[in-house]
Amino acid sequence: MPTIYVTRRIPDLGLTMLREKGFALEVSEKDGVLTKDELLSALRSKPYDGVLCLLTDTINSETFDAAPTAKIFANYAVGFNNIDVAEAKRRGVTITNTPGALTNTVAEHAMALILATTLRIAEGDRLMRSGVWGGWGPMQLLGSDLMGKTLGILGAGRIGSRLAYHCQKGFDMNVIYYDVRRNEAFEKETSARFCPTVEEVLKNADIVSIHVPLLDSTKHFINADRLNMMKPTAYLINTSRGPVVDEIALVEALKKGVIAGAGLDVYENEPKTAPGLLECENAVLTPHIASATEKTRGEMAKLAAENLIAFFDGKTPPNVVP
Ligand code: NAD
Repeated sequence: MPTIYVTRRIPDLGLTMLREKGFALEVSEKDGVLTKDELLSALRSKPYDGVLCLLTDTINSETFDAAPTAKIFANYAVGFNNIDVAEAKRRGVTITNTPGALTNTVAEHAMALILATTLRIAEGDRLMRSGVWGGWGPMQLLGSDLMGKTLGILGAGRIGSRLAYHCQKGFDMNVIYYDVRRNEAFEKETSARFCPTVEEVLKNADIVSIHVPLLDSTKHFINADRLNMMKPTAYLINTSRGPVVDEIALVEALKKGVIAGAGLDVYENEPKTAPGLLECENAVLTPHIASATEKTRGEMAKLAAENLIAFFDGKTPPNVVP
């Protein structure tokens, strides 16, 4: 009977599947992210066979040392930048993630951020709640339409291509994209035009939406120089990972009108935000909730459980991180 440490309570669907299969689960009772010391001492407390961890847990050589019997770390996320995958490989530890389950939900959230920034929804909401709204005005909170505009996707994988589909089919937008790999099926589906450089996307898009994974090569993928290449009327949307954008440079750009606005779900040093960001009226900010629907969080729990079940059945889990 495999014994699994779960670093934080996740939806019951996945936990029930594991219990029904006879797994013994130890679920952290803390309603919050475990500190490094809390995580290490929890892992040292028993000879666990596996760990179900979250994107907020740093999993590296120290963690593997604390759980030497754990041969699988099942991440409850599609991104796995919180895990030292190379170190896991060296030690023969399997890492899995939860791709696909959250694709449409995150794309819908990116769409919501696009609409909220261009139509100034959050600013309007703040005005209503301030109690000082004086009634309809012909020049009040003028936004920007989407029809006929150009969406620039950076990273046309699962989520980026799904967002492009919504924008092209639902809002009649043109799509351009940059990716390290050209995606011809995506081009066919959305009439997207491939740009051979990031710069070409930045110079031509009205909305730039980021969907690359966080890697050493994508840290500060969007920096001051690249923000300066964008149109002053353009918006930046980020639902990928915070460190992909130089947040201090972004605040400067938002304050100086280098770009028109930004819609962000992720931040460079969560839960902190860069100085000045919260005062930017032209930024719409959500607290890393792009995958947070009942259905999707349940699906993610199910996928994490399926990965663990397959592993302990002696099979290759469906979502091994290569
Ligand atoms: P994916 O692997 O399907 O797509 C990523 C795409 O980025 C791929 O097409 C890949 O070729 C491309 N890419 C990689 N490096 C690149 C580079 N240097 N330049 C350009 N393109 C590059 O992943 P996905 O399922 O679409 O998820 C994308 C990211 O979204 C995840 O890695 C994760 O960090 C993030 N995410 C965030 C949330 C959230 O809650 N905000 C939820 C889910 C996923």
